[in-house]
Amino acid sequence: MSYVALYQHLKFSIMHELSVAMGIVKIAEDETKKAKAKKVTLIELEIGKLAGVEFESLDFVWPAAVKNTVLEDAERKIDVKEGLGQCGDCDTVFEIQHFYDSCPKCGSNLKGIIQGKELRVKALEVI
Ligand SMILES: [Zn+2]
Repeated sequence: MSYVALYQHLKFSIMHELSVAMGIVKIAEDETKKAKAKKVTLIELEIGKLAGVEFESLDFVWPAAVKNTVLEDAERKIDVKEGLGQCGDCDTVFEIQHFYDSCPKCGSNLKGIIQGKELRVKALEVI
């Protein structure tokens, strides 16, 4: 029973990362065309720890997602952004691992996410 449940979660997770990877490919294809270039040699991504992306899953789907695209031979750099929240009650800025983390100073659950939800293509090197 539990084996089946785990399998379903994993499959769902990889589906999500595959759609993220394909979104990145789309951006790279568009930008390469705009720059009148042929392919991408380096792609820099910015991904926050609270963006809901599993890095292992992204690595797993990447080769299949970029095959026969401008990104096929591109080096990939990921700038990982830590999760940062600011307490709505005492203004303390603190590192958060999960959305439900509360303020370490006053224990409040009222907070704003100020960093960690990033999911974007920062830069491309094209030739
Ligand atoms: Zn607080």
